[in-house]
Formats: sequence, C-alpha cells, structure tokens
Amino acid sequence: MNALLMHWKRMPLYVRILIALLIGSVIGYILNNVGKPDWVVYLELPSKTILRMLSMLAPPLVLVAVIQALVKTEIPAGLARRLGGLLLLNTVVAILIGLFVANVLRPGAGANLEKPAPKATLASKEADPDKKLILETMETAGYKAPEPKKDVFAAFIDNVPKSIGSPLNENNVIGVIILALMFGVALRKHKDTAVKTVVDVIDVAFATLVSVLMGVLQWVPLGVGGVVATIVADKGLAPLLSLGWFILAVIVALILQAVWYLTRIQFSSWASPKLVLIGCRDALVMAFSTASSTATMPVTYQCLREKVGLRERSASLGALVGSNFNNDGTALYEAVAALFVAQLLGIKLTLMAQVVVVLTSIVASVGAAGIPEAGLVTMALVFNAVGLDTGFIALIFSVDWFLDRCRTAINVMGDINIACILDGRKRENKSEEQPV
Ligand code: ASP
Repeated sequence: MNALLMHWKRMPLYVRILIALLIGSVIGYILNNVGKPDWVVYLELPSKTILRMLSMLAPPLVLVAVIQALVKTEIPAGLARRLGGLLLLNTVVAILIGLFVANVLRPGAGANLEKPAPKATLASKEADPDKKLILETMETAGYKAPEPKKDVFAAFIDNVPKSIGSPLNENNVIGVIILALMFGVALRKHKDTAVKTVVDVIDVAFATLVSVLMGVLQWVPLGVGGVVATIVADKGLAPLLSLGWFILAVIVALILQAVWYLTRIQFSSWASPKLVLIGCRDALVMAFSTASSTATMPVTYQCLREKVGLRERSASLGALVGSNFNNDGTALYEAVAALFVAQLLGIKLTLMAQVVVVLTSIVASVGAAGIPEAGLVTMALVFNAVGLDTGFIALIFSVDWFLDRCRTAINVMGDINIACILDGRKRENKSEEQPV
C-alpha cells in the first residue's frame, strides 16, 4: 500500500489527473447505468474543498503578484504609456478572439446540462407540504421544532476558509487551524530566508502563497475523479465529450492569437516572424514544458537577445514586464471557459455579460502570476462576475494541465511580440549600443 502511494506521488501531476479522469468516468458510467445512489453527492466533496481553497488563494495571490511586479520592474518613464497601450491592445484582441471562437464553435452547446437543479443534499430537501402544515399547527400550540441538522457535507465545507481573513472574522477555530496548517507547512520551507528589504518580504509572501497553491494542486486528481464521477453519473458522457470541443476551441483561439502576434511583428518590427519563431523556439518549448512563463523568462530574454538580436532594453522589457503583466493566453482562456460553461448550462450570456467577461478577464490575466495553473485560480473572479457556478471550474481541472501549457506558450509569445515591436523597424547597429 505504502509502495503504491509512493509510486502515485512520484508520477507527474498530469498523469495522476488523467488516471483520475479515467477512473471517475468509469465509476460515473457504472452509476449512471445502475442507478445513482444518494451518497454520490459526497464524491464532490474534494473538488468543492479544492475550489474553496483556490478561491481563498486568488485575492492574496493577485495582490502579491501585482505588488511584486510593480515594485520590481523598472520601466523608463517615456516608455510606460506606449508599453501599457501595446499590452492592453494585445489582451483585448486575445479576449475578443476567445469570445469569437467560443461563440462560433459553441463548445459547450452539445451537452445541454441546463441550469443545475438544487442539489439533493439532506440540507436542501424541501419539506413535504403536509408535514409543514402539521409543524405549523404544532408551533402555534407552543411546540418548538428542533433546528434542522446541517448536512455533514455542508458543515465540512463551511469550515474551509472562504478567504484568508474569514475564519478570524467568524471566530471559526477549525478554519483558523486549517489556515495555520497550510501556511505553517509552506513557511517552513522559507524559515531560514533572510528578510532585509521590502522586496524580500514580498518575495517570501509570494513564494509562500505559491507553496500553498502547489500543496492544494496535489489534491486536484482526487477532485477531478470525484467531480467527473458525479457529473457522468448524473448526465452521462455528454459533458465529458464537450471537453474535447472545449480543448479544440481554446487551441483554435490560441493559434489565431499567435497569427495576430506574427502579423504585428511582420509590420512593426525589423525582425521577421520566421527569424523570431526560429530564434525563440527554445523559450516556446520551455514554456510548454514548464507551464510557467516566469520560469521561462531567462530563456525568453536570452533567445531575444542572442538568437534574434534585439536591443538589450527591448529584450529585457519584453521578457520582464511581459512575464509579469502580459498573459494574453490566460485572458483568452478565461473568456472561452466562461462561455463554455454558460453554454453547458444553456445560459445565454448577453452582450453586456460578455463585456463583463472581457473586463474581468483583463484583470484576471494581469493578476495571474506566471506559474502553473495560476489562470485556474483567477478564473473564479470571471465566473463570479457573471454569476456562473464556480463548481464547473472543477470540470475544467481535468484538461487544464494540458491547456495551461498551451496558453503559457502563447503568454511567452506575447512577451516576445512586445519586445520585437519595442525594438522598432531598425535593427540595432552593433557599433552604437543605443537605447530604445
Ligand atoms: N501558467 C501560466 C503562465 O505561467 C499562467 C496561467 O495559468 O494561465 O503564464
């Protein structure tokens, strides 16, 4: 048993997620055919807990990531506005491409899940009208009905902190202990780190949050298995098959975004798209394999500088500022995911709601740190803004490990694009090392 557990832990996360997806589908399929037992609702417990923890981590992660980016990046005064304009344009184009592709391909339309009926948990079972009448009559006669017992499921979830401050605010001791355990374990790794400057404090805060996030992500396979089993038991295989369409829609949209970048490079930079693609292939492959644009940053810089031959300042601004603020692949992904889930549920997002998706996706992409799965954490912001059930993010968990790699490559390509445009139409004259 111990050996099996060790073997499981040694497997890469995506392999564990795939195995969980398979096991969850088989269990769900069997339950769908033999009849769904009552206990099936409990299979959602891990995914609900993980989602609650991710929602708890989203605001502090966004806060610290943005503060860290602002404190650490040096942008020459004259360039700030131009850079801001370029970043915003690319992000808006990405989200529009995402919305366009999701509206045309309609990846979630086939599943027809419709709005979920209220969950059949013990807590939400409607009282039978006859019993209600008897209880009312007894109450007028002075009888006090006992408080309905809380479902174990709901009671457990209630203890998982909604936000970092909520357990303290609500005097919830179990919540406080959960927080203390998560952050205590994460901080142990940094206990010997010397903290001398404000930047050190921010770095330790960020590293601790990332450690907590990585700890939560280790449980994703359990969440995926449970949520897939519940959905398949309830609705059959259709929602799972829709995930194939979702992957396709995201990839088509990411490819269109890459075409946009290359076209911009063609017309606004001396470097040709071919030179850029060949020169930066190491960075793109590294982005795909690590799913982290921050981890890829040094390689991006090196490729831009040494293989493409951009000026020092354009390469460093593109790579450094870009990897902090420029996450177009993530923005596009958030938009497609929101529309996908709305389509799954048969909800029509009005134009106004889609504008809200655009605005929140911009914020979510800026706040998404350049680390694996950060986009999944900030997705809750977009879903909440348009009133979509964040529970469906759990369904997206099962394919996120792959789509994360694809969008990270596009995030890095966005940084490369900014660097090439900043470098202008004239190649650096090696004899005069001139600033941009
Ligand atoms: N993994 C992405 C990146 O590093 C962020 C995301 O999850 O969308 O750029």
